Amino acid sequence: MSDHDLYELLGVPRDADTETIKKAYRRLARQLHPDVNPDPATQERFKEVSRAYEVLSDPHKRAAYDRGGDVFASAGGFGAGFSFTDIMDAFFGGQTGPAGRGPRPRIHRGQDALIRMEVSLAEAAFGVSRELKVDTAVVCTTCDGEGTAPGTHPVPCETCRGTGEVAHVQRSFLGEIRTLRPCSACRGYGTLIPDPCRECSGDGRVRARRSITVKIPAGVDTGTRVQLAGQGEVGAGGGPPGDLYVEVHVVPHEIFTREGTTLHCAVTVPMTAAALGTTLTLPTLEADSEPDTGVETSFELDIRPGTQSGSEHTLRGRGVPGLRGGRGDLVVTVVVETPSRLDPRQEELMRELAAIRGEEKPDGRLAPNRPSGSVFGRIRDAFNGPPTRH
Ligand SMILES: [Zn+2]
Ligand SMILES: [Zn+2]
Repeated sequence: MSDHDLYELLGVPRDADTETIKKAYRRLARQLHPDVNPDPATQERFKEVSRAYEVLSDPHKRAAYDRGGDVFASAGGFGAGFSFTDIMDAFFGGQTGPAGRGPRPRIHRGQDALIRMEVSLAEAAFGVSRELKVDTAVVCTTCDGEGTAPGTHPVPCETCRGTGEVAHVQRSFLGEIRTLRPCSACRGYGTLIPDPCRECSGDGRVRARRSITVKIPAGVDTGTRVQLAGQGEVGAGGGPPGDLYVEVHVVPHEIFTREGTTLHCAVTVPMTAAALGTTLTLPTLEADSEPDTGVETSFELDIRPGTQSGSEHTLRGRGVPGLRGGRGDLVVTVVVETPSRLDPRQEELMRELAAIRGEEKPDGRLAPNRPSGSVFGRIRDAFNGPPTRH
């Protein structure tokens, strides 16, 4: 026998009235019921909680317990005339014991639920908290999950005498063949609900829309699922809820593309600036983040004289944070722009420059073959978005 305080076991104050004790026990029994949680530790707790209820729901035993008496001594555990099965019958309609033969339970663990959530690239990188509206089954408050109209209870099924099964006898040349089939009168439950709760039609749960706050951690990517324990569907008969999964979908960014924790972007510079060199001020992903992360939202990129189109500049630690810490790099690809329209004066200067450099009639050297994943591929990706996968 456990030494736990019986009031503590049920989670009620010492002056709790009978109704409060009953409600507390029903709530716990729903969570700890062997049909829902068959593991030994939960079953042991279920027995303790049931013993506590057995004592505290009986005014004489409760008074004896409050005086410090040993209320379990006489019956060696469970009190006489108040069996474990009786408690379960009163609350759940007669299903006890291990799964298998016998009536099937009315209570079940609820299903997991999945919802999709769109986030920006900055939100995926730095994390975000958002209110979401979810539509799931919740416990019916009218019947407290029992499925019966207030003041009524399930009654044993007379057709199957509460067993949930009926015998069918078939005659054949071998003799009589007896088979057990689920009782059609009670659909195998062993009990009937003569007066179902009107709110939930006897299911013990209703659909409801509610608001929950979802915390998306930094570093998630499209397809990441965030688990919210116990926020899924409540089960039939008011059974414990499943989990809610929020699947993240990252909306493409107009500047940055992401490859794991690496961010890519491309910047165009005029031909003259690439030849002469310049300094550019460019935004980082922090510029998009709300609230301020405290990190600088821009950086200076030094374009050295003679910078080639397709050259890459890596900024350490300015990419996307990893789910397990650390942070990727930001890779900037420079695209040199050739002027497409020259006025007469510009054309004259350009021809003069070509003449000085001896480039009036260039040969056009053949470039070596480039493997895939080259800088040219990256520039293309930077402009067209990530390559499509088939
Ligand atoms: Zn109801
Ligand atoms: Zn039946």
